[in-house]
Amino acid sequence: MRPLCLALLAALSFPAAAQDVAEFRRCLAGLRVQAIDKGIAPATLDRELGGLEPDFTVLERLDYQPEFRSPVWDYLAALVDEQRVEDGRAKLQQHADTLAEIERRYGVDPATVVAVWGVESDFGKNFGSRALLESLGTLSCFGRRQSYFSGEFIAALGIIDEGSLAAAKLRGSWAGAFGHTQFMPSTYLRLAVDFDGDGRRDLVDSIPDALASTANFLKEAGWQPDQPWGFEVTLPAGFDLAGEGRRTKRPLDEWRARGLVRADGTPLEAGQARAGLVQPADGGGPAFLVMRNFDAIYAYNASMSYGLAIAHLADKLRGGGDFVTPWPTDDLPLDRAGRRELQTLLTARGHDIGPIDGAIGSRTRAAILAEKRRLGWEETPRAGQKLLNALRKSAP
Ligand code: CA
Repeated sequence: MRPLCLALLAALSFPAAAQDVAEFRRCLAGLRVQAIDKGIAPATLDRELGGLEPDFTVLERLDYQPEFRSPVWDYLAALVDEQRVEDGRAKLQQHADTLAEIERRYGVDPATVVAVWGVESDFGKNFGSRALLESLGTLSCFGRRQSYFSGEFIAALGIIDEGSLAAAKLRGSWAGAFGHTQFMPSTYLRLAVDFDGDGRRDLVDSIPDALASTANFLKEAGWQPDQPWGFEVTLPAGFDLAGEGRRTKRPLDEWRARGLVRADGTPLEAGQARAGLVQPADGGGPAFLVMRNFDAIYAYNASMSYGLAIAHLADKLRGGGDFVTPWPTDDLPLDRAGRRELQTLLTARGHDIGPIDGAIGSRTRAAILAEKRRLGWEETPRAGQKLLNALRKSAP
């Protein structure tokens, strides 16, 4: 019975599977022509495309709209926690010579480079596990963004063709980012460098190549040596933020005149260096003046929360502390250790949430909702300190 049921289920989920596979083959033939136009050797294409299978599960990710978006403070709590700062400091020591040489050549400081590494792949611990040619090939032939993904698919074939990496090494996120610093294939072809001098640009197995490629990316995105990314500021009472933002840059002299001070209470430095004013959370919380180097980080991944995570982690690796102004919440966020403890307590209460990994996925969120319902709380799937405290007290 069981195989039959599974087959039936598969047929119901993908009623056009055979037709889709035929469509994939036709589409690959078209992509092959484009790849040859780009100068990729026919022998490489024969080898890589001959047995390539589609992976239709990436299409679910393409259309996945998260039903719950984490607030910026939760995002930062997981990415810039004590554990990542400790791991980052160890990496700074371990790779000190390489990082110093990278700074000499590209002008990007070690803490920033290591912060990108930590946020992108947890210092090489999390590359993503999908076969890139399968996922990018599928996204090139189906779904909403085929022309974008076909460019990335052909770039991935280019990486194989130039001999930098074998197809088996190209594993990454569903969208095609891979390696220590999660470059997309086209970014790789444009900006990856061979820093260890073995003749190959290898962001999967060579840490010097990966770190130098990140520095090269930031340099090309306009990084200014010896400039800060920005800093936290305190706004005068009643300050009107309307119209301000990352791209609305004004000289520091103007911000001084408008009453902004550094969050530690010291005055802003004088001068014509330009900065934009951002306050990432609705309803208050810390505000920041962000400068040219923040834009370079933002170019890596166009998200304010992401940019702040890199910037804040880099500051902490240099010995900096927490933000001064609290986030506008009375339910403090959990770091990864707190999330693992919450998952352990949920499991002890009989919820099947899968592995205790500190990542709040759909099963953990369902368990959180169930516990909040039991407690008579507002039913949001957010994992915060209040729920952790409540479950600690009532541990079975
Ligand atoms: Ca190399």
